[in-house]
Amino acid sequence: EVTNPTLASETELAFEGALRPTSLGEFVGQQKVRGQLQLMLTAATMQNRTPDHILLAGPPGLGKTTLAMIIAYEGNRPLRMSSGPAIQHAGDLAAVLSSLVPGEVLFIDEIHRMARSAEEMLYLAMEDFRIDIMVGKGAGATSVPLELAPFTLVGATTRSGLLPNPLRDRFGFTANLEFYAESELEQVLGRAAQLINLPIGQRALAEIAGRCRGTPRIANRLLRRVRDYALVHGHDADLTAVHAALELYDVDEIGLDRLDREVMKIILTRFGGGPVGLNTLSVSVGEESETIEAVVEPFLVRIGFLTRTPRGRVATGAAWRHFGLNDPQVALT
Ligand code: ATP
Repeated sequence: EVTNPTLASETELAFEGALRPTSLGEFVGQQKVRGQLQLMLTAATMQNRTPDHILLAGPPGLGKTTLAMIIAYEGNRPLRMSSGPAIQHAGDLAAVLSSLVPGEVLFIDEIHRMARSAEEMLYLAMEDFRIDIMVGKGAGATSVPLELAPFTLVGATTRSGLLPNPLRDRFGFTANLEFYAESELEQVLGRAAQLINLPIGQRALAEIAGRCRGTPRIANRLLRRVRDYALVHGHDADLTAVHAALELYDVDEIGLDRLDREVMKIILTRFGGGPVGLNTLSVSVGEESETIEAVVEPFLVRIGFLTRTPRGRVATGAAWRHFGLNDPQVALT
């Protein structure tokens, strides 16, 4: 799926690597978060200490990994990368923590997916730079404390609501990343086009910016598809190429893709606009509820097509209008 921000192939990862900004100054948008991070990092440098632990929360593809790398680069600190699904036992985490060098930045992506036992070990590590290692089994088991090098944990999550409070409370700062404005995405795209040597006009960039679900990862990916189109058809990367390429990949004029449209159409036509529960929706669409909740819904909520209520998801008037359907509630009044 060209607009699925959670998918990234090998070539795409290499491409992303080449496009990643390496300093806060180069990082486009998220002005508030940038200012907050800058202050924390500068204070830590002035006091010659490791910065506080930082949690980056927000939908996929908004720049969490990029920011983690920048946090390390800006302070000239080594970076270790890991992820929640890779830490399935406390021992996995102990191995990582005990090999950190002083001042290292430890990035744990999808931190909400880490094993519970590891989470508990992390509490102590974050607070006291110490872990307790259990030696032996049964009645003879003893715990041996192990001092750790001071480090900065940067956790990333698409589902901050799933993090237990004791973990959330141990971060000195939580950065909530927002979807990007179109003008910011134009800057992301302009920068990427330059880096890949693609001559492209402002109108074409603006058109892509309006269709990438407020997400830099999707912006960069759509830019590649436009570049492919221009290359294969011997065409300029202009507005015509953008329209043709994005139509081919089923991205509509406001950036909805096949899955977004399917979710909305099911809510509208099968459930009369809702409310409909997440699990029912996931079964009806045939897609995992986590994908719907973390990838599809945040954007639909952001563009005002969907509201989340305690009774379930409800479509708004704007959604009925976009799909050219009549809202039965309005017809009744
Ligand atoms: P995930 O949670 O899925 O790992 P993410 O939030 O970590 O996603 P990144 O991998 O950091 O997202 O970013 C995806 C791509 O978007 C990268 O190629 C990066 O270069 C680009 N990008 C993200 N944010 C920005 C930004 N603010 N300015 C320029 N490029 C950006």
